[in-house]
Amino acid sequence: MSGPVRGARAAVVDLCRAMAGRGLVVGTAGNVSVREGDLLAVSPAGTPYATMTADMVGVHALDGTPVHTPLRPTSELALHALVHTRPGAADGEVVLHTHAPASTALSTVVDEVPLTHYYAAFFGGAVRVAPYARFGTDALARAVLDALRDRSAALMGNHGAVLVSADAAAALDRAAYLEYVCDVALRALSTGLPLRTLDPAEIEDVRAGLAGYGRPVPPADGS
Ligand SMILES: [Zn+2]
Repeated sequence: MSGPVRGARAAVVDLCRAMAGRGLVVGTAGNVSVREGDLLAVSPAGTPYATMTADMVGVHALDGTPVHTPLRPTSELALHALVHTRPGAADGEVVLHTHAPASTALSTVVDEVPLTHYYAAFFGGAVRVAPYARFGTDALARAVLDALRDRSAALMGNHGAVLVSADAAAALDRAAYLEYVCDVALRALSTGLPLRTLDPAEIEDVRAGLAGYGRPVPPADGS
């Protein structure tokens, strides 16, 4: 493979294929970026995931400036660049954009995902819905960035979802959790019955508990 950040570009392909495999996108919808150092690997526009290779994945500076672009980048490049340059952004982070059905459906009926499940803690609290703006616009990128403050996920009104993950290994599971949380809220809303939602303070407590989630259990003697 020619060009820089080979690991990040291979990760983009793996994540794109996995998103399609899990039904989080249809066709060539959705896009992915992975930061490696001061560079971003960004999925190309309109490329079928089944035949996408790491050689087709472009590389940009963190501000979106092209560095190595074998194909036209995703139309949401501005969104990816803005999220990767937000305050607190870190090396290795993944930004994943899906058109997952429950996330998209829920984005058309609420301004914030109701706290119907404690998994909201995975995303820092109630996931906000960024107001609709046309795909690929700076207005959409800014609206999503605003919705992401103190959160690692946001819905995009009448469009889909965006998720930030600390690394590629966790990104897909987090995307699946987000879709699950949205699906639960959507099903609960569809009953027409009043929702029993959780207190934000409860979500905060769960968040503290989830900090060690998935890590090895320490030895019983505390050593
Ligand atoms: Zn989209």
